[in-house]
Amino acid sequence: MIFESYQVGMLACNCTLIGDEQTREAIIIDPGDGIAGIHRRLTQLGLTLKQILITHAHIDHVGGALRLKKLTGAPIYMNENDLELLAMMEEQAAWLGVEAPERTTIDSAAREGGSLTLGQAPAQTTFHFLDTPGHTQGSISIWIPSENKLIAGDTLFRDSIGRTDLPGGDSRQILSSIHTKLLKLPETAVVVPGHGRNTTIGREKERNPFLQSF
Ligand SMILES: [Zn+2]
Repeated sequence: MIFESYQVGMLACNCTLIGDEQTREAIIIDPGDGIAGIHRRLTQLGLTLKQILITHAHIDHVGGALRLKKLTGAPIYMNENDLELLAMMEEQAAWLGVEAPERTTIDSAAREGGSLTLGQAPAQTTFHFLDTPGHTQGSISIWIPSENKLIAGDTLFRDSIGRTDLPGGDSRQILSSIHTKLLKLPETAVVVPGHGRNTTIGREKERNPFLQSF
């Protein structure tokens, strides 16, 4: 499996590319910006983009999705509970003082119980969607058991958790999402957060200061 993460845009969002070596198909998660570079990398690796996954509708995670879709034809998956935020792209751009990207529409709803697969059996990789609201109402995390990796969006970070002071944020809900969904995963699972360095479920369970007094 090809697994690469890049920091894109002014807020350094972690954008992840996962590609199957046999079928040469790929999934991109959170193409917030830097689309020309991501597209070049896909071409370089000889990969065809199958799906674009969005962990939540903040501009730094979703800003480049439409551009990438136009370049590759890949459909966009996002949780519908973030449609309201997606419609606020102009306001979000104003928070950052940047120009608003063209409004993205979603092609498929990513929700709890849903999944995507890459590759062919028996070497298939499954991406399971977990609803983890709190940072935003439509925040999802993506669990990839065969890789023992979790793409956590802005729900869980190394030593921190997502902010809940923006529209749609809820501090009780994010803690409940982390405890009931994410901390149940194997302690060895590698967490790729929406920003910053990777961590593991075990490390955050033990040391994340926001998770000690629940
Ligand atoms: Zn965010």
